[in-house]
Amino acid sequence: AYDMLIVGGGPAGAAAAIYAARKGIRTGIVAERFGGQVMDTMAIENYISIPETEGPKLTAAMEQHVRHYDVDIMTNQQAVALKPGKLIEIQLANGATLKGKSIILATGARWRNINVPGEQEYKNRGVAYCPHCDGPFYKGKRVAVIGGGNSGVEAAIDLAGIVAHVTLLEYAPELKADAVLVRKLHSLPNVTVITSAQTTAISGGDDQKVNGLSYKDRTTDELKHLELEGVFIQIGLVPNTEWIKDVVKLSRFGEIEVDNKGHTSVPGVFAAGDVTTVPYKQIVIAAGDGAKAALGAFDYLIRSSVS
Ligand code: FAD
Repeated sequence: AYDMLIVGGGPAGAAAAIYAARKGIRTGIVAERFGGQVMDTMAIENYISIPETEGPKLTAAMEQHVRHYDVDIMTNQQAVALKPGKLIEIQLANGATLKGKSIILATGARWRNINVPGEQEYKNRGVAYCPHCDGPFYKGKRVAVIGGGNSGVEAAIDLAGIVAHVTLLEYAPELKADAVLVRKLHSLPNVTVITSAQTTAISGGDDQKVNGLSYKDRTTDELKHLELEGVFIQIGLVPNTEWIKDVVKLSRFGEIEVDNKGHTSVPGVFAAGDVTTVPYKQIVIAAGDGAKAALGAFDYLIRSSVS
């Protein structure tokens, strides 16, 4: 059995593996894909000490750092079940079972897609999901934010301070965000709010970058078009917790509930990164959180009777 078995190979899992291995304990990391969401990212400019990098490059550096230590890396493996016990079991889709005295869940999250033509095609070429990450790339440009819940309205307020103009599109007849955010949004001179708007397509130009967005006015069924350079989709972030939802306590958003040392509701099971209730889903935060959960799990191991 592993002393610490980490599920997930994004920044949270990689950081946890390094912190665990440096304690000289038997460490394993099992993941579908090393790098996680970082592999899907083009420009990264907010990982402290690296002013500019790209997702695949940062992933390669993370993997190299993990391989620097004695860690069993098992990729292309999907965890499908967790069985609590003195030794905790992780079942894989291929039928194998891995055991750990402690487990760190770092399976991350995925942005909910809007599934309209152009979304996949222009990902990283004008279609974005994270204002903290990509907002500055649209300085002085026109963008749309799709989604009028708290994240959409927060994104629109944030972007309005950077870009030339923001159009916020909401499918329902009114915004769902907190009143205080909606008031703030309406006070901004460079924001237009369109409700009852169903986005139908994202279009691009010869340069393969976004140049517009089409939507249907749901009150009149009229099709309209906006010219712009960026579209931020803010209709939800889905934690990858389907496979543990009956075992580990989740929040109403499906995130794993953790305390300030990364403990979950199951003894010996810790969690870190985007999959947890820890706010602000960012690489630097996930990495810090992975380190914290590994130290929390190490604390647990030195106090536990499983040897
Ligand atoms: P993830 O990166 O999601 O990694 C999850 C890991 O778990 C992966 O290895 C995955 O394969 C594995 N996994 C999931 N389910 C299973 C399973 N059942 N069994 C086995 N393995 C499983 N953040 C920034 O700070 N700066 C940016 O510029 C930035 N840009 C972004 C751009 C895009 C397009 C996206 C999608 C995200 C961006 N982010 C950015 C957010 C950042 O990537 C995440 O916050 C970060 O990767 C979260 O790390 P994590 O380790 O918690 O999870």
